[in-house]
Amino acid sequence: MPLLPILVPLMPGETPASFASRLAWANGLSFASEFCTDQGFTLQAIADGDERALSILARVGGVELAQLMCGVVCKVSTGQYRLVGQLVEKRWITRRRLRFCPECVADDVTTDTAGGAAQRCAWHVPSIRTCQHHQVRLYDDNSYSHSRGPHDFAGRIRDLNLGADQVRELGAWQVPTGLEDYLTRRLAGEKQGTWLDNIGFGAVALGAEIFGVVDLFGVDAKLKHLSDNEKRRAGAWGFELLSEGEEGLFRLLRRLHREAGSPISLSRRNYGCLFN
Ligand SMILES: [Zn+2]
Repeated sequence: MPLLPILVPLMPGETPASFASRLAWANGLSFASEFCTDQGFTLQAIADGDERALSILARVGGVELAQLMCGVVCKVSTGQYRLVGQLVEKRWITRRRLRFCPECVADDVTTDTAGGAAQRCAWHVPSIRTCQHHQVRLYDDNSYSHSRGPHDFAGRIRDLNLGADQVRELGAWQVPTGLEDYLTRRLAGEKQGTWLDNIGFGAVALGAEIFGVVDLFGVDAKLKHLSDNEKRRAGAWGFELLSEGEEGLFRLLRRLHREAGSPISLSRRNYGCLFN
């Protein structure tokens, strides 16, 4: 497999599908799916983490396979993905929606050698709502490209038809919460030396949010009725509780028991979304 005539640098934490999308554009093809077919694999195979497809992409794109794996998403089963080594339930990963940091994207599209905007794997995690690097809120776009599918990131950004300045205007300044900081670092492979490192990635993300929801909004609160900002606040608060370990969790449970009666007599309705 010869190297492609034009190469683009792989961005830190970039998904392989995004790398393919930028290589395609740099080499004169607007659709990543077309580019992948020319190379002997499908864009979906890259998006699912197929080893053969990934090793061909690494070879033609002039990067080490290990580098490419730093942003890899693997489909483990119909209900599970592995996001850079972290097991995540399908319902806790966002792939279809166009989610990005406006500052990262604006920087990429104004860099001549980049081949367009690169998608960072952290943007797949709904509990990460802030770009740690820029301290900017991630932008969530509902549009869906039927011709491109979900994984042709650079193409989907081009389809928005926005200049770099207009893209920057989509952002708002926001400091990452403790939960966002923890999850982003964990995806980047950092061991943070807390008891949470031994719990599943998705369980920390959702657990923090649920504990926070119960403590801030009560056991009757419904996740689907909370705004994104309320869920973010809940995640931040729940992460503080979880970080305290046993003591934090027991404090919350003792409060529920105080308000509702003896723990022995409590039924599932007294725990609300915590029970579910
Ligand atoms: Zn950013």
